[in-house]
Amino acid sequence: MRPPRCAVCGKLSKTNIDGFKLVRFKLTQKQKAFNQEMKEKNKTGHPKGTDWFCADHYLRAKELRNRSNIEAIKIIKSEI
Ligand SMILES: [Zn+2]
Repeated sequence: MRPPRCAVCGKLSKTNIDGFKLVRFKLTQKQKAFNQEMKEKNKTGHPKGTDWFCADHYLRAKELRNRSNIEAIKIIKSEI
């Protein structure tokens, strides 16, 4: 797992009480295949389509989780 860094603003989580949360987005076909391959090969790592968000961006990210993470991050960035 990567250290928590907000996918929108790049802020790093310094403690585990500062509101950073993971959001799991709808997977693209490519991401699905990648995650499946990781699973089959027993590799550990950060699953595709899942990103960390700081307290400021978590709620909006959650609203957009029925899109892909690429789309959702682009949308949030365009709003700030
Ligand atoms: Zn943020």
